[in-house]
Amino acid sequence: MQVENLTIDSVREGLARRAFSAVELATEALRFAGAENGKTNALLEICGERALAAARRVDAGIAAGEPPGPLAGVPVAVKDVILTGGVRTTAGSRLLANYNPPYDATAVIRLEQAGGVIIGKANCDEFAMGSSTENSAFGPVRNPVALDRVPGGSSGGSAASVAQGTSVVALGSDTGGSIRQPASFCGVVGVTPTYGRVSRYGLIAFASSLDHIGPFARNVKDAARLLGVIAGRDPADSTSAAAPVPDYLSQLDAGVSGLRIGLPVEYFKGLASETGDLIAKGIEVLGRLGCKVREISLPATEYAIACYYIIATAEASSNLARFDGVRYTCRSPESGTLSEMYRNTRGEGFGAECKRRIMLGTYVLSAGYYDAYYLKAQRVRHLIAQDFQRALAEVDALVTPVSPFPAFKLGEKLADPLEMYLSDIYTITCDLAGIPGLSVPCGRTAQGLPVGMQILAKHFDEPLMFRLAHAFEQAGGVEG
Ligand code: GLN
Repeated sequence: MQVENLTIDSVREGLARRAFSAVELATEALRFAGAENGKTNALLEICGERALAAARRVDAGIAAGEPPGPLAGVPVAVKDVILTGGVRTTAGSRLLANYNPPYDATAVIRLEQAGGVIIGKANCDEFAMGSSTENSAFGPVRNPVALDRVPGGSSGGSAASVAQGTSVVALGSDTGGSIRQPASFCGVVGVTPTYGRVSRYGLIAFASSLDHIGPFARNVKDAARLLGVIAGRDPADSTSAAAPVPDYLSQLDAGVSGLRIGLPVEYFKGLASETGDLIAKGIEVLGRLGCKVREISLPATEYAIACYYIIATAEASSNLARFDGVRYTCRSPESGTLSEMYRNTRGEGFGAECKRRIMLGTYVLSAGYYDAYYLKAQRVRHLIAQDFQRALAEVDALVTPVSPFPAFKLGEKLADPLEMYLSDIYTITCDLAGIPGLSVPCGRTAQGLPVGMQILAKHFDEPLMFRLAHAFEQAGGVEG
């Protein structure tokens, strides 16, 4: 068996034919991850014991004649901002370098109940702040498609692991693009579900009103299946939605003829030509499949980055206040007073980007500036959400690029945070509006770098988003 080429369907089929047992598959997946991970640094921890225990449960269930769960035996990577009880969870931060959480995130519980086998914890930008995974305290991740380039971020380890083959599917988190952007850089599928669709219980908080957990996969069907497993109301997260979870697989093949697609004009201005050309080809494919394509406007787009960096940093400054040296393992050893201990712990523990965000967030929330910055940004967020509401009343889905450029070289944008922030210009609005978004591979540049096409839909309209992406993929994407 070649673990790097497996899909959920091929795992199910292999288990059903008894071509391999779940333990044999897990053993091989662990061997492969152990041998290959050094090339990319995608995984921070390989969880051998936990993986084998999960695989043994799957085999025992099969032997007892129980129907296998939807993820039975499937090797999964979990971004290291998602808690795994008893397995080190660092959020890519020195502050949590030795943190062993006492419980599992709801998404983790659900994926193991479905038979999923967690192979490893995926590297990420510190507290999910970044667009390249270069902000990890444990070294950057290399893009498996081009090892001198970044995998995107902040869920770069999850995307790289799926692309490299050390997992079949993975969980990431997205606050402003951190699932779709790395998916596009690594040539895999990435999904940001509707806000509230997946419980955030056990997700280390960055910006709570923007944070989402979502899947990475090698194809749309696997991503849809994984979302079906982790979605749904959770009493432990009051913002998780009570809306019933549809069967995401049942409508995948329903076809897309007659669907109305909007192209937001603001997203196509000044687009790097190769990315623009590939997305244009992708749109042609959708046209050939019978979609009705037209231009549409989202006028508040130009304020999105500014609005995001006020709201996200404000919430981050509040969420990160819990890392004080008293709780969660790390404490600076040589401090006289309590406030010195806070200062030293945070000074030594947080990396530069986290400090930048905490300072910015504290500033925009401070008395006297709250109305001028934070409140104003909330108003702009409302305008952005209204833009989408208006547009998605006229069309069924929006199609855009995921990122203005493909994967860049390691170090290339490190010196200029503003340039780095631009990586998310097309993905951030979706999080601000709370609607679902997906990145599907849309060909490669002349240098062989993957480009992703983004599909955005109405709140809870993941079925339509999956249907469109699946039809595009089945047509062979832009290479078809
Ligand atoms: N790159 C964006 C940021 O740095 C988005 C991160 C994310 O989605 N977690 O905030």
